[in-house]
Amino acid sequence: MTPLGQLLAGQIAVEGPMRLDRYMGACLLHPAHGYYATRDPFGAAGDFITAPEISQMFGEMIGLALAQAWVDQGRPTPFTLAEAGPGRGTLMADMVRAMRAVPGMVAAAQIHLIEASPALRDIQRATLAGHQVTWHDSLASLPDQPVFLVANEFLDALPIRQFQRVEAGWSERQVGLGADGALLPGLAPPTRLAALEARFGDTKPGDVVETCAPAVAFAGDLAAQIAAQGGAAILIDYGNWHSLGDTFQALRAHQPVDPFATPGEADLTAHVDFEPLAQAARAARAQASAMTAQGVLLERLGITARAQTLAQAMTGQALDAHIAAHRRLTHPAEMGHLFQTLAIVPQGVALPPGFDAL
Ligand code: SAH
Repeated sequence: MTPLGQLLAGQIAVEGPMRLDRYMGACLLHPAHGYYATRDPFGAAGDFITAPEISQMFGEMIGLALAQAWVDQGRPTPFTLAEAGPGRGTLMADMVRAMRAVPGMVAAAQIHLIEASPALRDIQRATLAGHQVTWHDSLASLPDQPVFLVANEFLDALPIRQFQRVEAGWSERQVGLGADGALLPGLAPPTRLAALEARFGDTKPGDVVETCAPAVAFAGDLAAQIAAQGGAAILIDYGNWHSLGDTFQALRAHQPVDPFATPGEADLTAHVDFEPLAQAARAARAQASAMTAQGVLLERLGITARAQTLAQAMTGQALDAHIAAHRRLTHPAEMGHLFQTLAIVPQGVALPPGFDAL
């Protein structure tokens, strides 16, 4: 068992089965043994690869979409240019480079990063050397000024709970101990849950639904700030409008593994539900866009023209890799449809380009 597995097993032996969100949170962010707290998981040599690490075009397109939103809102100066869960800092670096094409924008931008992992903060500091950057643990400490924010594969890392439908209630999935002392998922006795009453309509006994309260709280807090101060957010993640089924997964060295086998040493994620995010944004008196597939959004933002321009300077293997990267980001059989996007802006203000009204 991993060191974190031993710690959690000891805790479960004393306190009884552990909720899945507590398990997921410990696996990702335990200060000594958490997955993100201790390593750089990205890239070909790591456990997974994300859109900004695939091609600079991703950050350029998203950065210019936020730039258009900034222009549409009257070029507020100064403003917060924020990212939640910035990983290696690649997306922010690519966005800022693209924004240099917009007069006055980079000079007006104050970069704020929301990042829990000390190891990744160090990498972000190096990637963004030459820029003034402020780090935060959460949205709460961002300055009171317009905020233009991106989050790519951040919400999928926030801890979820899972519930299996029984006839007239829900059994929560939790982590207990098997006869051999290893961690073993199981089900709590059924209860009724107010938050899941609405899901009786579209589920049957045996179905699993997931909730992610931290993601909903994040969208609500962000939307409240955008409604009050101005700004725009673009949220990108793999997911659906609302959840059905078990999407809890672990990746190690680019391969799916048992999420309970190596706690702290595999990346754990779950699909993001966009409907509750849009509802939270509306409840906070902001405007949420329709959910838009990543491939559609990037095409609308002009990624193919950009790809052609970049291709002119390339030959051989570099050109092949560039063409493959464009396809990987946009094609429906690759990331183009699995990944979905949502924009949040104040009411009565134009959505960023590429997004449709809800
Ligand atoms: N956006 C990056 C990285 C995605 S991985 C990319 O596209 O490459 C998820 C990121 O979110 C990591 O930087 C991780 O450390 C961070 N993270 C995960 N949970 C977090 C939390 N609760 N608060 C702040 N950051 C978190």
